[in-house]
Amino acid sequence: MRPGLSAMRPQPVEGRTSDFDEFSSHLRYSFVPCVSLPGQLGRSGVITTPHGKIKTPAFVAVGTKATIKAVLPESMAALGAQALLANAYHLYLQPGADVVKAAGGLGRFMNWPGPTITDSGGFQVMSLGVGFKKVLAMNVDGLEDDDVIAAGKTRLAQVDDDGVTFTSHLDGSQHRFTPEASMQIQHELGADIIFAFDECTTLMNTRHYQERSVARTHRWAARCLAEHRRLTGEHTSLSHQALFAVVQGAQYEDLRRQAARDLASLVVDGLGFDGYGIGGALEKDNLGTIVRWVCEELPEDKARHLLGISEPNDIFTAIENGVDTFDCVSPSRVARNAAVYTARGRFNVNTADSRRNFSPIDPDCDCYTCRQYTQAYVHHLFKAREMIASTLCTIHNERFIVRLVDDIRAHIEAGTFADFKIDFLGRYYGSSLRR
Ligand SMILES: [Zn+2]
Repeated sequence: MRPGLSAMRPQPVEGRTSDFDEFSSHLRYSFVPCVSLPGQLGRSGVITTPHGKIKTPAFVAVGTKATIKAVLPESMAALGAQALLANAYHLYLQPGADVVKAAGGLGRFMNWPGPTITDSGGFQVMSLGVGFKKVLAMNVDGLEDDDVIAAGKTRLAQVDDDGVTFTSHLDGSQHRFTPEASMQIQHELGADIIFAFDECTTLMNTRHYQERSVARTHRWAARCLAEHRRLTGEHTSLSHQALFAVVQGAQYEDLRRQAARDLASLVVDGLGFDGYGIGGALEKDNLGTIVRWVCEELPEDKARHLLGISEPNDIFTAIENGVDTFDCVSPSRVARNAAVYTARGRFNVNTADSRRNFSPIDPDCDCYTCRQYTQAYVHHLFKAREMIASTLCTIHNERFIVRLVDDIRAHIEAGTFADFKIDFLGRYYGSSLRR
């Protein structure tokens, strides 16, 4: 017998407070590493926040504008999501950080009682500077720094040593982010974990520019710490927010290691960072190497977050090289284009193969969609352009990644990670059923 709507009800998650008003009195941020992978940097652990615990390694679902597109927060809780990440840049522009603060903070605003994270908005603002790729010149040989912007295109962001001036992608209005402004915005948004404002470069920038940028990001990190300390002292009645620094340095080993060491030892007025993000330009082929360089330099007792990855093999690579949490927009983004993850690889439910397939998207999946609906029905919804097509596929994909990372954590703790990795990736990338 198939389960009824009860499957959609939020399941209690260990350590999560059920009432928004309960928090802050007893839980403070902490990270405790547990079981390590033999001979590698990967480990399991537990992050405690004022809104509950995150068992690591953990996938953090991305709700850029305080919503996981097409899916209710209740459904995210039911599928086992532990934490959500929203973006300070987007919420600053719309609806405004003051509105989120007046609502009681990000979690209460979006009716998500669990842990929340905001990223600083640096990446989005800097992306305006390179024009969302489309204004990048294709041939950068012999060009320097800023010359990589294609002729005739206007930059929407300008970086200087004090901050970034940018033009809103919504209405063309002018704004300025500084390290202090980013901290003020993220304090108003009120997430449990916030990020220092950093300069996000691209692989197109020159070595010389990357050196200057890492130094700038370090100076901004110190300003973020000072402002974070000041703001925390101002509102002692609210829950304590943890501040993570962001390690940049692109593909250069010396820059990455130096940036990690410098941020790990940075203390302002007795306050250091609570954890570290690994950001910026990461070539897929170098992902594991760059993560390892950084994690070898960071203190073992601090959590490490990788800002933005996508594929299952990247998840294994990141975790075994020391990443505790990572965010990933792909499960929901590709779901809206009818692409679904399964144990035997990714396929598109929009194709003719699914038209008369009356089995679930993935017979081995325990998600709400796979327990209630057939591939043929989801296929029909996409063809008919019905909105719940995106909802059903997003629930499936988010559950797939949550469950994968839950399994990885269980295998780290059982000492069977290596076997699980070979088995999973062999099936995912090697199956003849992959379409
Ligand atoms: Zn499913």
